Amino acid sequence: MARKTLKFVNVGKRMPEKRSAEMRRRDFDEIYARFDPDKASEQAGRCSQCGVPFCQVHCPVHNNIPDWLMLTAEGRLEEAYEVSQATNNFPEICGRICPQDRLCEGNCVIEQAGHGTVTIGAVESYITETAWEQGWVKPAKPRRELEAEVGIIGAGPAGLAAAEQLRRKGYQVHVYDRYDRIGGLMIYGIPNFKLEKYVVERRARLLYDAGVHFHLNFEVGRDATLEELREKHDAVLIATGVYKARDVKVPGVGLRNVFPALDYLVTSNRKGLGDDVPRFEDGTLNAEGKHVAVIGGGDTAMDCVRTAVRQGAKSVKCLYRRNRQNMPGSQREVANAEEEGVEFVWLSAPQAFLGDEAVSAVRAARVHLGVPDATGRQTPQIVKGSDYEIEADMVIKALGFDPEDLPTLFDCPALETTRWGTVKMDFRTMMTSLDGVFAAGDIARGASLVVWAIRDGRDAAEQIDGYIKAKAQGAGAGEAP
Ligand code: FAD
Repeated sequence: MARKTLKFVNVGKRMPEKRSAEMRRRDFDEIYARFDPDKASEQAGRCSQCGVPFCQVHCPVHNNIPDWLMLTAEGRLEEAYEVSQATNNFPEICGRICPQDRLCEGNCVIEQAGHGTVTIGAVESYITETAWEQGWVKPAKPRRELEAEVGIIGAGPAGLAAAEQLRRKGYQVHVYDRYDRIGGLMIYGIPNFKLEKYVVERRARLLYDAGVHFHLNFEVGRDATLEELREKHDAVLIATGVYKARDVKVPGVGLRNVFPALDYLVTSNRKGLGDDVPRFEDGTLNAEGKHVAVIGGGDTAMDCVRTAVRQGAKSVKCLYRRNRQNMPGSQREVANAEEEGVEFVWLSAPQAFLGDEAVSAVRAARVHLGVPDATGRQTPQIVKGSDYEIEADMVIKALGFDPEDLPTLFDCPALETTRWGTVKMDFRTMMTSLDGVFAAGDIARGASLVVWAIRDGRDAAEQIDGYIKAKAQGAGAGEAP
């Protein structure tokens, strides 16, 4: 058979079709179409099959990318799916929302050589969407059932990846979540235009079908203590994410219509899911007809500005204290936001929110970027006397998240935390200061990415399996639990 890869010299990079900005502004649907089979095969065939696959090295779950690209180029999609799902529980989710420009695609060898990266994320989505259509995606079916039980706190990507891996091994898995739906930030944080809800919901159904027990509207700390869960289960995994919003300490921060980003996004997502949301219906958390200012430059800020555009805001500005090159959010998302009409006000730091009862403007100062700090990012310095005002009758603070105080919330002072408030764990075993209690995802590593949460969940499942088996052997049973 003629070689189907190495086509990058003659075939240019193509993304799947993107809907026009004008169309996108009018709804919350995803913005990219899917590749058709020919395009997927053609684009996968651009892979150079290089000896050291930097795409794979820079993928947190070490996806075997060159292999599934080659299989896609050859039209062997079921095999491509098998290879892809072997390292990743939710490939179609990562295909949609990973910042590929910083991970696999950013390190693609042909990108470095100036040919334009292989569109790895789009091919990844295509493979798994095809697998769903063809019925190749099946619930985990353990070869035999084990008696041992694992309790998982948190139904975000870390908890769900761990749940699936443990179920595959035959454990009885109980997932507890304080929300009424499964998915964590994938359902209530990330908007539809990046990740439509059906994608998460069908994964949740798959886990139900695999026999995972979900306990929703169940808040650990309110409905049970951590100690009670430890008594009930052979091991417990904490995968609660990070939810304490960082605040901006300027005068006027308490004015009406100044909101934390997640309040705004959860409201919008709930509305999209068909829930009754009084704070949206009464206009409080609806940007329609308003001048909106979003403070911050990460993924959350990007999601807020683009949500505001879709809700029909009069104007949407994003104030960020650094410049485009130094922002943490994905460059692709910035470009999408700009196309949709968002104005970025770079090198701007809020000094005060102005207004009587409700906010009416933001007073901001210009910023000069000084010498790089230890992380290599330039330090922002306020330029004296450079203050100016931006009209805003809705302000959204998107400055990142810190961990909640879990030892207090869980009524468990023995649970040790780091100086950043994340749960302290042994990086080899993923066990916390409490025997049989493990941690994964944002609560262990700080606010991060879905793909890292998946990686942690998978690693934690392996460690929990080892722990339960070792304990059973230590107890003299000599048998698998
Ligand atoms: P979460 O997804 O936060 O899930 C934790 C779960 O634990 C939640 O369901 C919560 O209800 C539950 N929980 C918490 N406390 C308790 C308790 N006491 N009892 C019971 N349940 C509890 N990442 C990307 O890769 N790409 C993106 O485009 C992207 N966009 C983002 C946009 C926004 C607005 C935000 C906020 C984050 C974004 N991220 C993105 C980051 C990503 O969503 C997180 O890194 C990831 O979801 C972390 O997974 P997790 O399982 O650790 O936690």
